[in-house]
Amino acid sequence: MANIIPRMEFLVQSLFRSQRQCPHCGSGETKVRARKYVTIRIRECVTCGLFFTDPVYETMFGSTFYDVLYVEHDLTTDLPPPDQLETLKQKRFQGTNKYYGVRLERLRDARIGTTMAEIGSSWGYFLFQAQHYGFEPTGVEISQPRREFGQKHLGVNIVDGTDKLPSEGFDLVYTSHVLEHFTDLSTIFPEMHRVLKPQGKLVLEVPHFAFATHQAEVLQIIGAVHPLGFTADFFSRNLPRYGFRILDFYQSWEHFPTPKAPQAHSNVVALLAEKTSPAF
Ligand SMILES: [Zn+2]
Repeated sequence: MANIIPRMEFLVQSLFRSQRQCPHCGSGETKVRARKYVTIRIRECVTCGLFFTDPVYETMFGSTFYDVLYVEHDLTTDLPPPDQLETLKQKRFQGTNKYYGVRLERLRDARIGTTMAEIGSSWGYFLFQAQHYGFEPTGVEISQPRREFGQKHLGVNIVDGTDKLPSEGFDLVYTSHVLEHFTDLSTIFPEMHRVLKPQGKLVLEVPHFAFATHQAEVLQIIGAVHPLGFTADFFSRNLPRYGFRILDFYQSWEHFPTPKAPQAHSNVVALLAEKTSPAF
Protein backbone atom coordinates (compact mmCIF):
# COMPACT_ATOMS: atom_id res chain seq x y z
CA MET A 1 0.00 0.00 0.00
CA ALA A 2 1.78 3.04 -1.33
CA ASN A 3 0.66 5.85 0.93
CA ILE A 4 0.34 3.97 4.20
CA ILE A 5 2.44 6.37 6.31
CA PRO A 6 0.47 9.53 5.49
CA ARG A 7 -2.77 7.62 5.96
CA MET A 8 -1.78 6.46 9.43
CA GLU A 9 -0.54 9.93 10.33
CA PHE A 10 -3.78 11.41 8.96
CA LEU A 11 -5.89 9.11 11.13
CA VAL A 12 -3.99 10.16 14.22
CA GLN A 13 -4.36 13.84 13.30
CA SER A 14 -8.08 13.40 12.82
CA LEU A 15 -8.41 12.64 16.52
CA PHE A 16 -7.13 16.00 17.70
CA ARG A 17 -7.15 18.44 14.77
CA SER A 18 -10.05 19.93 12.88
CA GLN A 19 -10.62 22.00 9.74
CA ARG A 20 -13.88 23.86 10.01
CA GLN A 21 -12.96 26.74 7.71
CA CYS A 22 -13.16 26.32 3.97
CA PRO A 23 -9.62 26.11 2.45
CA HIS A 24 -10.92 28.08 -0.55
CA CYS A 25 -13.17 30.94 0.61
CA GLY A 26 -12.49 30.89 4.35
CA SER A 27 -16.16 30.51 5.22
CA GLY A 28 -17.00 28.84 8.52
CA GLU A 29 -20.37 27.80 7.19
CA THR A 30 -19.80 24.14 6.33
CA LYS A 31 -21.68 20.86 6.72
CA VAL A 32 -20.34 17.39 7.43
CA ARG A 33 -21.51 15.28 4.48
CA ALA A 34 -19.73 11.99 5.19
CA ARG A 35 -17.06 10.28 7.26
CA LYS A 36 -14.05 8.16 6.32
CA TYR A 37 -12.54 5.66 8.73
CA VAL A 38 -15.01 6.93 11.36
CA THR A 39 -12.93 9.93 12.45
CA ILE A 40 -12.23 11.87 9.23
CA ARG A 41 -15.05 14.21 8.31
CA ILE A 42 -15.85 15.21 4.73
CA ARG A 43 -17.24 18.73 4.76
CA GLU A 44 -18.99 20.77 2.09
CA CYS A 45 -18.64 24.54 2.19
CA VAL A 46 -22.11 26.07 2.07
CA THR A 47 -20.71 29.34 0.73
CA CYS A 48 -18.62 28.12 -2.25
CA GLY A 49 -19.48 24.42 -2.69
CA LEU A 50 -15.98 22.99 -2.16
CA PHE A 51 -15.69 19.58 -0.49
CA PHE A 52 -12.73 19.08 1.86
CA THR A 53 -11.45 16.76 4.54
CA ASP A 54 -11.61 17.71 8.20
CA PRO A 55 -8.83 17.81 9.17
CA VAL A 56 -6.76 18.71 6.12
CA TYR A 57 -3.74 16.44 6.37
CA GLU A 58 -0.49 18.16 7.29
CA THR A 59 2.58 16.06 6.95
CA MET A 60 5.31 16.28 9.55
CA PHE A 61 7.71 15.75 6.65
CA GLY A 62 7.01 19.27 5.39
CA SER A 63 7.73 20.20 1.80
CA THR A 64 9.55 16.98 1.06
CA PHE A 65 6.25 15.10 1.43
CA TYR A 66 5.76 14.75 -2.28
CA ASP A 67 9.24 13.36 -2.72
CA VAL A 68 9.18 10.93 0.18
CA LEU A 69 5.60 9.81 0.53
CA TYR A 70 3.50 10.75 -2.46
CA VAL A 71 4.38 7.76 -4.58
CA GLU A 72 2.08 6.63 -7.36
CA HIS A 73 4.51 3.95 -8.54
CA ASP A 74 4.24 5.08 -12.10
CA LEU A 75 5.72 7.86 -14.17
CA THR A 76 3.80 10.52 -12.23
CA THR A 77 6.38 10.43 -9.50
CA ASP A 78 9.07 7.91 -10.48
CA LEU A 79 12.08 9.48 -12.14
CA PRO A 80 13.11 7.07 -14.91
CA PRO A 81 16.70 5.82 -15.28
CA PRO A 82 18.68 7.11 -18.31
CA ASP A 83 18.00 4.24 -20.73
CA GLN A 84 14.28 4.24 -20.03
CA LEU A 85 14.18 8.02 -20.34
CA GLU A 86 15.82 7.93 -23.78
CA THR A 87 13.20 5.44 -25.00
CA LEU A 88 10.39 7.56 -23.55
CA LYS A 89 11.73 10.68 -25.26
CA GLN A 90 12.18 8.93 -28.60
CA LYS A 91 8.61 7.61 -28.51
CA ARG A 92 7.37 10.89 -27.02
CA PHE A 93 5.83 8.87 -24.20
CA GLN A 94 3.51 6.86 -26.47
CA GLY A 95 2.32 3.68 -24.81
CA THR A 96 2.52 5.15 -21.29
CA ASN A 97 -0.08 6.88 -19.16
CA LYS A 98 1.97 10.04 -19.62
CA TYR A 99 1.26 10.24 -23.34
CA TYR A 100 -0.56 13.52 -23.97
CA GLY A 101 -0.61 13.57 -27.77
CA VAL A 102 -4.40 13.47 -28.05
CA ARG A 103 -5.05 16.42 -25.79
CA LEU A 104 -2.13 18.41 -27.18
CA GLU A 105 -3.51 17.94 -30.70
CA ARG A 106 -6.90 19.14 -29.50
CA LEU A 107 -5.39 22.10 -27.67
CA ARG A 108 -3.30 23.04 -30.71
CA ASP A 109 -6.28 22.77 -33.05
CA ALA A 110 -8.34 24.99 -30.72
CA ARG A 111 -5.90 27.80 -31.66
CA ILE A 112 -5.71 29.16 -28.14
CA GLY A 113 -2.16 30.42 -28.66
CA THR A 114 1.30 29.02 -28.07
CA THR A 115 2.47 30.47 -24.74
CA MET A 116 1.43 28.08 -21.98
CA ALA A 117 1.91 27.82 -18.22
CA GLU A 118 1.39 24.42 -16.66
CA ILE A 119 0.65 24.36 -12.91
CA GLY A 120 2.01 21.14 -11.37
CA SER A 121 4.47 19.86 -13.94
CA SER A 122 6.19 17.08 -11.95
CA TRP A 123 9.33 16.28 -13.99
CA GLY A 124 8.12 17.86 -17.20
CA TYR A 125 6.76 15.02 -19.35
CA PHE A 126 3.80 17.17 -20.45
CA LEU A 127 5.99 20.22 -21.12
CA PHE A 128 8.36 18.11 -23.20
CA GLN A 129 5.54 16.82 -25.38
CA ALA A 130 3.89 20.26 -25.60
CA GLN A 131 7.03 21.64 -27.26
CA HIS A 132 6.57 19.13 -30.06
CA TYR A 133 3.08 20.50 -30.73
CA GLY A 134 4.31 24.05 -31.19
CA PHE A 135 3.74 25.32 -27.67
CA GLU A 136 6.20 27.43 -25.68
CA PRO A 137 5.51 26.02 -22.23
CA THR A 138 6.67 27.03 -18.76
CA GLY A 139 6.02 24.69 -15.84
CA VAL A 140 5.48 25.27 -12.13
CA GLU A 141 6.54 22.52 -9.72
CA ILE A 142 7.16 22.66 -5.95
CA SER A 143 9.28 19.50 -5.83
CA GLN A 144 12.92 20.43 -6.31
CA PRO A 145 14.18 17.00 -7.50
CA ARG A 146 11.43 16.74 -10.13
CA ARG A 147 11.95 20.31 -11.25
CA GLU A 148 15.69 19.80 -11.64
CA PHE A 149 15.22 16.47 -13.41
CA GLY A 150 12.96 18.08 -16.01
CA GLN A 151 15.30 21.01 -16.53
CA LYS A 152 18.37 18.81 -16.86
CA HIS A 153 17.10 15.77 -18.76
CA LEU A 154 14.13 17.07 -20.75
CA GLY A 155 15.38 20.61 -21.35
CA VAL A 156 12.11 22.16 -20.21
CA ASN A 157 11.58 25.39 -18.31
CA ILE A 158 10.17 24.81 -14.80
CA VAL A 159 9.92 27.38 -11.97
CA ASP A 160 9.19 26.78 -8.29
CA GLY A 161 6.11 28.97 -7.86
CA THR A 162 3.49 30.92 -9.79
CA ASP A 163 5.04 34.13 -8.40
CA LYS A 164 7.91 33.52 -10.84
CA LEU A 165 5.52 33.76 -13.81
CA PRO A 166 5.06 37.12 -15.56
CA SER A 167 1.72 38.94 -15.45
CA GLU A 168 -0.33 38.58 -18.64
CA GLY A 169 2.40 36.38 -20.06
CA PHE A 170 0.42 33.38 -21.32
CA ASP A 171 -2.27 32.47 -23.82
CA LEU A 172 -3.10 29.31 -21.91
CA VAL A 173 -2.92 28.11 -18.30
CA TYR A 174 -3.17 24.35 -18.06
CA THR A 175 -3.41 22.17 -14.97
CA SER A 176 -4.31 18.49 -14.73
CA HIS A 177 -4.89 16.46 -11.55
CA VAL A 178 -3.12 19.00 -9.37
CA LEU A 179 -5.68 21.23 -7.64
CA GLU A 180 -7.13 18.33 -5.62
CA HIS A 181 -3.74 18.09 -3.83
CA PHE A 182 -3.82 21.70 -2.59
CA THR A 183 -4.24 22.40 1.11
CA ASP A 184 -4.90 26.12 0.54
CA LEU A 185 -6.97 27.14 -2.46
CA SER A 186 -7.22 30.84 -1.67
CA THR A 187 -4.56 32.21 -4.05
CA ILE A 188 -4.33 29.91 -7.08
CA PHE A 189 -7.29 31.27 -9.08
CA PRO A 190 -6.18 34.92 -8.75
CA GLU A 191 -2.70 33.77 -9.81
CA MET A 192 -4.06 31.95 -12.88
CA HIS A 193 -5.97 35.10 -13.76
CA ARG A 194 -2.93 37.32 -13.27
CA VAL A 195 -0.60 35.35 -15.55
CA LEU A 196 -3.11 34.99 -18.39
CA LYS A 197 -3.28 37.50 -21.21
CA PRO A 198 -6.65 39.20 -21.76
CA GLN A 199 -8.96 36.58 -23.35
CA GLY A 200 -6.43 33.92 -22.37
CA LYS A 201 -7.82 30.45 -21.68
CA LEU A 202 -7.75 28.27 -18.59
CA VAL A 203 -7.85 24.52 -19.16
CA LEU A 204 -8.32 22.66 -15.91
CA GLU A 205 -8.82 19.00 -15.05
CA VAL A 206 -9.59 17.40 -11.68
CA PRO A 207 -11.28 14.18 -10.47
CA HIS A 208 -15.04 14.58 -10.35
CA PHE A 209 -16.19 14.43 -6.73
CA ALA A 210 -19.81 13.66 -7.65
CA PHE A 211 -20.98 13.25 -4.09
CA ALA A 212 -24.57 14.34 -4.76
CA THR A 213 -25.14 11.40 -7.09
CA HIS A 214 -22.50 8.83 -6.13
CA GLN A 215 -22.03 9.30 -2.37
CA ALA A 216 -19.88 6.50 -0.95
CA GLU A 217 -18.41 5.57 -4.36
CA VAL A 218 -16.51 8.85 -4.63
CA LEU A 219 -15.14 8.90 -1.10
CA GLN A 220 -12.11 6.96 -2.32
CA ILE A 221 -10.90 10.03 -4.23
CA ILE A 222 -10.75 12.33 -1.19
CA GLY A 223 -8.41 11.89 1.80
CA ALA A 224 -4.84 12.53 2.90
CA VAL A 225 -3.32 12.94 -0.56
CA HIS A 226 -6.39 14.59 -2.14
CA PRO A 227 -7.89 16.82 0.58
CA LEU A 228 -10.21 18.63 -1.85
CA GLY A 229 -13.23 17.44 -3.85
CA PHE A 230 -14.46 19.40 -6.87
CA THR A 231 -17.69 19.47 -8.83
CA ALA A 232 -18.69 21.32 -11.99
CA ASP A 233 -21.02 23.32 -9.77
CA PHE A 234 -18.06 24.57 -7.70
CA PHE A 235 -16.37 26.04 -10.79
CA SER A 236 -19.62 27.50 -12.14
CA ARG A 237 -20.23 29.26 -8.84
CA ASN A 238 -16.72 30.52 -8.22
CA LEU A 239 -14.67 31.12 -11.37
CA PRO A 240 -16.75 34.14 -12.49
CA ARG A 241 -15.79 35.83 -9.21
CA TYR A 242 -12.15 35.64 -10.31
CA GLY A 243 -12.83 37.14 -13.71
CA PHE A 244 -13.31 33.97 -15.75
CA ARG A 245 -16.15 33.03 -18.05
CA ILE A 246 -16.70 29.29 -18.30
CA LEU A 247 -16.94 28.21 -21.93
CA ASP A 248 -17.63 24.49 -21.46
CA PHE A 249 -17.19 21.35 -19.39
CA TYR A 250 -15.83 18.11 -20.82
CA GLN A 251 -16.05 14.50 -19.85
CA SER A 252 -12.78 13.57 -21.51
CA TRP A 253 -10.16 14.96 -23.83
CA GLU A 254 -11.42 12.79 -26.64
CA HIS A 255 -14.57 14.94 -26.67
CA PHE A 256 -12.70 18.24 -26.64
CA PRO A 257 -13.89 20.68 -27.94
CA THR A 258 -17.33 19.03 -28.13
CA PRO A 259 -18.75 19.51 -24.66
CA LYS A 260 -20.17 16.63 -22.70
CA ALA A 261 -20.72 17.26 -19.02
CA PRO A 262 -19.19 14.76 -16.61
CA GLN A 263 -21.65 12.23 -15.20
CA ALA A 264 -20.06 9.19 -13.60
CA HIS A 265 -17.68 9.47 -10.68
CA SER A 266 -14.92 7.81 -12.67
CA ASN A 267 -14.74 10.79 -14.95
CA VAL A 268 -13.06 14.10 -14.49
CA VAL A 269 -14.23 17.64 -14.51
CA ALA A 270 -12.38 19.33 -17.33
CA LEU A 271 -13.22 22.85 -18.25
CA LEU A 272 -12.29 25.60 -20.59
CA ALA A 273 -12.64 29.13 -19.26
CA GLU A 274 -11.73 32.52 -20.63
CA LYS A 275 -10.26 35.50 -18.82
CA THR A 276 -12.83 38.21 -19.35
CA SER A 277 -12.58 40.85 -16.67
CA PRO A 278 -10.25 42.10 -13.96
CA ALA A 279 -10.29 40.11 -10.76
CA PHE A 280 -11.96 41.75 -7.80
ZN1 LIG B 1 -15.79 27.82 0.62
